[in-house]
This record gives sequence, C-alpha cells and structure tokens, in this order.
Amino acid sequence: MLALAAARLGFDTCVLAPEADSPAMRVAASHIVAAYDDEAALAAFAKRCHVATFEFENVPATSILHLQSMDLVVAPGPRALSVAQDRIFEKTFFAERGIACAPFAAIEQASDIVAALARLGAPSILKTRREGYDGKGQTVVMSADDAGDAFERVGRRPAILEGMAPFVRELSVIIARGWSGEIAAYPPGWNQHEAGVLRRTVTPAPSSPETLAKAVEIARSLVEGLGYVGVMGVELFEMADGALWVNEIAPRVHNTGHWTLDACEVDQFEQHIRAIVGWPLGPTHPMARAEMINLLGEDANEWATIAADSGARLWLYGKSGAAPGRKMGHVNRLTGPFPS
Ligand code: AMP
Repeated sequence: MLALAAARLGFDTCVLAPEADSPAMRVAASHIVAAYDDEAALAAFAKRCHVATFEFENVPATSILHLQSMDLVVAPGPRALSVAQDRIFEKTFFAERGIACAPFAAIEQASDIVAALARLGAPSILKTRREGYDGKGQTVVMSADDAGDAFERVGRRPAILEGMAPFVRELSVIIARGWSGEIAAYPPGWNQHEAGVLRRTVTPAPSSPETLAKAVEIARSLVEGLGYVGVMGVELFEMADGALWVNEIAPRVHNTGHWTLDACEVDQFEQHIRAIVGWPLGPTHPMARAEMINLLGEDANEWATIAADSGARLWLYGKSGAAPGRKMGHVNRLTGPFPS
C-alpha cells in the first residue's frame, strides 16, 4: 500500500525483502530478494534509492545504520526503530517523556518474575523484550507458582513483566511528522482485539473529547521526543476515569490506521510517503465515520460476498497461504458523517 501510494505521487519504489512472494513486490517498480542484513543487497538497494523506509519493525537497526553510512536518507531513523524493538527501551523512553504506562520490570530469569510479581501484583503479563507482536511471545502469569512455566512459555528469553492495565477501551493514534517538524494526526480509533490480534477499529472512538485530545498530545510528545519522520502508530489503554497509559509504539504505518484508506482524503500510506520525501503533510480530518474489520485467515474466502456489498470497501493483500489468524486483508465501511 506504501508502494501504491508512492506510485500515485509519481515515485518508483524498490522493495527489499527476504520473501520472494512478498505482496509489495507485485506492485513495486523493482525489487531485491535478500536478507535484511545482506550488505551487498543493501548496497545495491542504496544505489537505486533516494530515500528508504520500512514497514516492519524487526528490520535490524544495524541495516538502517549501514544504509545511512552509504549516504541514503532513511526515515524513520535508527533511534525510533531501536526504541520500538525493545519493550524495556520503549517503556524507559515513555518514562523519560513523563508519559504513563503499565508498571514493569525487566526479566532475565524465572526468579525475577517472582520478585516482580510482589510489586506488580498478579496476574501480570510476561512479554518477550523483542520480536513479539499480535499477542505472540506473551503470556499471563497467574501467580508466583506459575513463574517457571511462564518463563518457559516465552522461550526463556529476556522479557518484561507488565502489571495489568485495568482499561475500559484500547485506542490508537496514527500520527505523522515531517522533516520540518510539521505534525498531522488522525482522530484516535477504538480498537477491539480477539486473542491478541486486532479485529476491528472504529472512528471516532467513543471517548470524551478531552481524552481524545490527550491521546493526540501524547502521540505528539512521542514523535517529537524521537525526532521522528514518517507515520507512527501509538497504542493506548483508556481507563474508566479517562486516564491514558501508552501500551506501545509502532514505527510505521499501522493496521489500526487502515480505515484512513477510504475515510480520508490523504490516507496514512500517502501521508508516510509525503513525510519521508519532504512534502507538505495532507489533511487528516476524515470525510466520514469508519469501521475497519480485519480479514483473518479463512475470513478472506468470503471475498465474493464482501465484494457484492456496495457499502464495503475490500482490500486484499495478495498473501499466499491463509494460516489461521494471519492478516489477509480488511474491509472498510463508512458509517455516517464525521463529527466536526
Ligand atoms: P501488545 O502486543 O503489547 O500490543 O499486546 C497485545 C494485546 O494484549 C493488547 O492490545 C491488549 O489487549 C493486551 N495487553 C497487552 N499488555 C497489557 C497490559 N499491560 N495490561 C492489559 N492488557 C494488555
């Protein structure tokens, strides 16, 4: 979708990815199939490009530094990537910005869990520090007796234990920052998950105007603190009293921003391209209320029924293999005028 947005603005895209059947390669001007840390491939890629970006946060930060050492402009930069790649760095960064998040402790071994539970309370959530997403690499620890098993369940890897956020709702802000420091945020969405995977996003979120404004302010503080360039997704927990805790940041376009494809004049993908190439950012006030539903695994087989529904905008990603829970596409529906 980034490549499609770039093409519409007159840019050619070169995609570097390890998978030969990467969906982006179907719609990009050229591609290179190689590991993210293949230095010869990175050199060939740098020669072809004026600006590089990523849409997957597990690209090694060293590859980004390597591209920069060849004088290629990369946005977002390595700092945002390394903060987002490690849940301890991420939460420490939130604390530095004075932004509330779940209480946490770094875990190196099972006995650390027992000690941390005494402070954070049970149940708590154990997550791998790195490479977790969509609820993968995380498990609930019910009690100190469960500490050893829980550490096994996350693969005995360096982890973080987080206190349970007593949230009433999950929100996200899709925010863009340009090279000049210009900022543009879309109105926050309300996100509903099933088994740790996003199922539905609704905009506007049914929170108070004060809470929504606070969510955008938090997102602004985070992109400014990172000197960020591009689109970032900021996930938040909303408490019963309207207080907000940041859950995590995604240094890329975000699944909870896919509704912008049909509800906004400039969607998050075009916004990201505009930001990284130094164009002015586009308008973010939606033309309509929207609902986005993810098509997970076999859901995508319903494409014919969805395509026959005149109120549904169908997006299929062209991925091979509909493994259970895999994001195969999504459906947007516009549900009425957006409040001014
Ligand atoms: P994450 O991979 O960190 O985004 O977590 C996936 C989902 O697990 C979140 O969207 C929440 O629904 C839930 N979750 C994660 N962390 C916490 C927490 N500290 N307290 C309560 N629920 C959480």
